[in-house]
Amino acid sequence: MWISEIMLQQTRVEAVIPYYERFLSRFPDVESLARAEEPDVLTAWSGLGYYSRARNLQRAAQEIVANGVPSTHEQLRGLAGIGPYTAAAVGSIALGLKVAAVDGNVIRVISRLTNDPSEITAPATRRRFAEEAQRLLDPRRPGDFNQAMMELGATICTPRSPACAGCPVSRFCAAREAGTERSLPVKLKKDVAREVALNVAILTERTGKLKRVFLIRRKAAERRLAGFWELPVKDMLPGWRGREAGHFTHQIVNDRFGVSVWCGKAPMVLPEGEWFTTEDLPGIPLSTVARKALAVAGRFAAALNTPSLKR
Ligand code: SF4
Repeated sequence: MWISEIMLQQTRVEAVIPYYERFLSRFPDVESLARAEEPDVLTAWSGLGYYSRARNLQRAAQEIVANGVPSTHEQLRGLAGIGPYTAAAVGSIALGLKVAAVDGNVIRVISRLTNDPSEITAPATRRRFAEEAQRLLDPRRPGDFNQAMMELGATICTPRSPACAGCPVSRFCAAREAGTERSLPVKLKKDVAREVALNVAILTERTGKLKRVFLIRRKAAERRLAGFWELPVKDMLPGWRGREAGHFTHQIVNDRFGVSVWCGKAPMVLPEGEWFTTEDLPGIPLSTVARKALAVAGRFAAALNTPSLKR
């Protein structure tokens, strides 16, 4: 429950499943996760993004090994990387704790059930809706109640087209009665994502051959991706020319990266880094941008009839 809830933060269920299975087969219990080397944990997490989640997961595993398995909401909240929602979801489903789990889906359902037009990013509104969810919680089956509320929001009471005709709680729903369900919840418009252009360079030993690629290591001071391997960017290679292999976009929080992938023979002078064979790549922590760029380069190489990158 704990691992899946952490993986599901900001990531869709379908995307999480293969990572979840791989992670659990690599770290089948809390002890193995607690004593693992951090690069192994980051490698198992590679591709899921938001890597602070993996580091916190390991810190929490170490706390559990040291202090025992938590049994209260407060103890769960005290673990690294566990906020109020995750503590409530894990606590109610795994431990039967009577605490309502309130995520965006539940906020939407509550705003409609109560026909409340308050702006939902306001802390006072979220607090009031959380109290309402707690009031509604079935104390006999808190885990089932929380999952039902989340599922209702995810599948029936959806943001744009709530399926009120088939909704199991439509007779208690004030918004349905007032005909306001589509205008709720009220939410301020988000800032528009910042566009960022990024030119990454896939340096090879020989033109058109992708047997080894050059990577640089992110510095310990860079909190988000510290310890990860990354592709150099073109700005680090003055005068270097490559061929454009493709382009993709990648969103991180409020930044939307437009990534151009350039391939070519490495220049004589290189920034600090290391060469890796393509067989090495699955075994090292690589950022999601680097993985996507290498996939683009692999397709480009295949199109040129050169050996493609193994993933
Ligand atoms: S009746 Fe409609 S608006 Fe109300 S909870 Fe159900 S799906 Fe949502």
